[in-house]
Amino acid sequence: MLFSALAEAFQAIEETTSRQAMTARLADLLRAGREDAGILPYLLQGQLGPPYAAPNLGLDERRVALALAAATDTPEEQIQRLYADYGDLGAVAEHLLPMHGQPVTVREVYERLREIAAVTGSGAYAEKIGRFADLLRGAGGPPARYLVRIALGRLRLGVGDATVIDALAAAIGDVTARPAIVHAYTRCSDLGLVAAAAFTGGRAALERIQPAPGRPVMPALAERLPTPAEIIRRLGRVIAEPKYDGLRLQAHRDGEQVWLFTRRLEDVTAAFPDVVRAVRQQVAARQVILDGEIVSYDPSSGRFLPFQETARRRRRHRVEEMEARYPLRYFAFDLLFLDGEDLLPLPQRERSRRLHEIVRAVSGGIIETTLQIETDDARALETFVAEMLRRGLEGVVVKRPDAAYHAGARQFNWVKLKREYVHALADTFDLVVVGYDRGRGKRAHLGIGSFLGAVYDPEHDRFRTVTRVGSGLTDEEWIELRERLEAARCTEKPNRVESRIIPDVWVEPRYVVEVVAGQISRSPLHTAGQTNGQPGYALRFPRASRFRFDRRPEDATTEREIVEMYRMQTSTAAGGPG
Ligand code: ATP
Repeated sequence: MLFSALAEAFQAIEETTSRQAMTARLADLLRAGREDAGILPYLLQGQLGPPYAAPNLGLDERRVALALAAATDTPEEQIQRLYADYGDLGAVAEHLLPMHGQPVTVREVYERLREIAAVTGSGAYAEKIGRFADLLRGAGGPPARYLVRIALGRLRLGVGDATVIDALAAAIGDVTARPAIVHAYTRCSDLGLVAAAAFTGGRAALERIQPAPGRPVMPALAERLPTPAEIIRRLGRVIAEPKYDGLRLQAHRDGEQVWLFTRRLEDVTAAFPDVVRAVRQQVAARQVILDGEIVSYDPSSGRFLPFQETARRRRRHRVEEMEARYPLRYFAFDLLFLDGEDLLPLPQRERSRRLHEIVRAVSGGIIETTLQIETDDARALETFVAEMLRRGLEGVVVKRPDAAYHAGARQFNWVKLKREYVHALADTFDLVVVGYDRGRGKRAHLGIGSFLGAVYDPEHDRFRTVTRVGSGLTDEEWIELRERLEAARCTEKPNRVESRIIPDVWVEPRYVVEVVAGQISRSPLHTAGQTNGQPGYALRFPRASRFRFDRRPEDATTEREIVEMYRMQTSTAAGGPG
């Protein structure tokens, strides 16, 4: 496929507001570009690979402007002036390069962009700028516009994974293949791989996609229930484990090679050399995928530190210093793959047993397997919860002993019970920021007074608003948030957002913030949970509690959870369970 054809499709998608029409257009694109099916899903999301291996071009606005200046023989000042007029460097590129360029294929563009990303070492920037300028020189019209947007990480077509999956099912002419596509995707986290398999070998090829060291499995997620009694009533016999409040981390090993992935499927191996060493030292198997949580602690008191402190370890620079300052433990709670064998279908109890068998305790070792009890007695569970809270843990996670690992799904096979529910004070929600209001009065100097938070509806791949949040953060945190949001600013309401409120500034749904709220109420103002003629749901008394930038927007609290929590809240208020 020619890159100009892809640019044309980008433009059509951008102009489409109906999801159905967008899916149909995407299906046409995938069908027409089936030989490039392995890379189109990345490019549609402005990426150069799957989430865990998508290189960054390493060109910021200034450098893209320099490349554009070089490609068009235009003084840089003029580029900056045009940028101020258009507000989009992509539009400037198209303005300066209006004529059709030379025909170049999608694959060639993809490979050249990846080559630019791979340039490192001294003189790397000059070389990157030079190569990007060469690429632009051959482009013209919409291709130039989209090349620049991809380079800046601002393609923003509003095409989520769920939409690509629907389009792929339609493109292979078998809408009933959707579950098989999702199944394969949750095992490899790579839509390019899934799309290529779907076109070449249909369902059989999709079924052959198994977990493998080096590519993350989508993490299983927990539902919530309000009390131990309710949990036992619903699940019967359970395995209960402490809930650690750190960072979810999947550790992969293949021989001497180790990878670490976050819940957002990012590769963070370089940030945690201590965990890498421990995997080599403590795991008695050649190939494994472990699921677990890292928590840092204060070396002088041995006490666990709050999540924010652990999150500091995610950086890529001054790694050794951070390692000494924030030592950590890795609590492994599941085993997903072992020496060539996919363990996802095995019952929880069996996976836990094998996990305990392969993790060796060594002196100074930082990997531990989680403590567990197995019970069908609500009182025993209650005692366990109380003990965990007394130890300062966040709560417990209970698991159905006979259930398989449900990659990428929130199901009642895992249920969390947190401190907040036990004390019936409030609950926490992970909201996606979709807009913000510039501060007034006392807040004016911060440039942000509140943000508009939304929940995710995976079925329709859309974000629906649930509250405005204007408290809970320090001035420094508000400023940090505003700076991030500014970079994700959109001139119009983003495609996947549904809102009745119009904020001062719309932002691309990218950042997740945890919010504590006292109650959920029905509200005509918000779109979450809104159905024909019925009001939506809103969080009351919301307060931001922490940034959850380790989450993808699709990992946010879902619309369905809000509706269920509202139900849970009203049944408790009516003297029901709890
Ligand atoms: P929360 O903010 O409550 O942690 P979440 O959306 O991150 O919620 P959930 O799947 O709802 O994730 O809750 C389970 C989370 O708890 C896991 O993602 C993991 O990070 C953490 N966790 C801590 N200890 C355990 C454990 N023993 N088993 C499973 N998950 C655990």
